[in-house]
Amino acid sequence: MLIFSKKAGLNAHLAPYREAGTTIGFVPTMGALHSGHLSLMAQSLAQNGLTVVSIFVNPTQFNNPEDLEKYPRTLDADAHRIKTLDAGIIIFAPEVEEMYDGNTVSSHYDFDGLEHQMEGAHRPGHFDGVGTIVKKLFEIVRPANAYFGEKDFQQLQIVKKLVEKEHMDINIVGCPISREPNGLAMSSRNERLSSEERTGAAIIYKILQEARQRFAHESIDAVKHYAEKEFKAHPELTPEYFEIADEATLRPAVLKENRKYRAFVAVFLGNVRLIDNISLN
Ligand code: AMP
Repeated sequence: MLIFSKKAGLNAHLAPYREAGTTIGFVPTMGALHSGHLSLMAQSLAQNGLTVVSIFVNPTQFNNPEDLEKYPRTLDADAHRIKTLDAGIIIFAPEVEEMYDGNTVSSHYDFDGLEHQMEGAHRPGHFDGVGTIVKKLFEIVRPANAYFGEKDFQQLQIVKKLVEKEHMDINIVGCPISREPNGLAMSSRNERLSSEERTGAAIIYKILQEARQRFAHESIDAVKHYAEKEFKAHPELTPEYFEIADEATLRPAVLKENRKYRAFVAVFLGNVRLIDNISLN
C-alpha cells in the first residue's frame, strides 16, 4: 500500500498511469475514516482504473480553532482501513506546509451565492477554505472523477460550482449518506460524542424523517415549526439552523414550487457540531 506525503512523489507515481490513459478517481477526506468514507472509495474503485484518497485536515476551512485542534487524526488506523478495502488505493497524506507553502490562507471564491447559505452563514470563511484546498488537490491529482458525500450537501454543490467556474474537466459524483444503525449520519466528529450522546443523537434523523413525511401535506412553515418544537423538547440538542432549501440554489424555500427540496440541519450536542440533511420530495 502506497502513502505519499509529497506532491512530487505522488505525481511521479501517477505519471505512467496518466500516460497509459488510466482513469483516476479521487476521494478527498480529512481522515478518521468511517464506513461513509469507505463507501465513496468503493464507488471510485468501481468506476476508475486507479483510486487516490487524500487525508488532510485542512486548517483554512475551520472557523473554530478548538474544532481544528480536537479534530481526530488517525493516519495509521486510516491506512489500515483503506488497505483492508483495497490495497491498490493510493493515499496522499501531506503536511500543511506541503499544501500551503508557508502561507496558510484561503483564496476568496464567488460560488454564485451558494456560499452565503446555511454552513456559509454560520461558518465564516469555511467555503473559501474548502474551495482553496479542493482546487489545490484537484490540480495535484487531476482526476477524471471525484467523489463527495451528500452528508455535506452544500459542499457537494459548491464543489460542482468550483469546477464549473474554474473550467476544470472533472466529473463530480455525489454519494448517498451512510448512517449508523440508529440513523445518525456517520461523521468523524461522532468520535467525540459519549455513548449516551451518540444514542441520543439518533433523534436528529428521526426529526428529518418526520419532516419529510409532513412535507408531503403541510406547509414549509408548518414543517419548520414542527422541527423547532421537537428540538425544544430535546434540550441536550441545540440547533444552529433547521432550513428547508431549494436543492439547486440552496436558498430557503418559502412556497412549494415544482422543484427539489431538502431539509438541512446543524446542531450542537455539547460542544460537538453535527450536520445532516434529507431529500424532501
Ligand atoms: P470529511 O473527511 O468529513 O471531510 O469527509 C470526506 C468526504 O466524505 C466528504 O465528501 C464527505 O461528504 C464524505 N462523507 C463524510 N461522512 C459521510 C457519510 N456519513 N456518508 C457519506 N459520505 C460522507
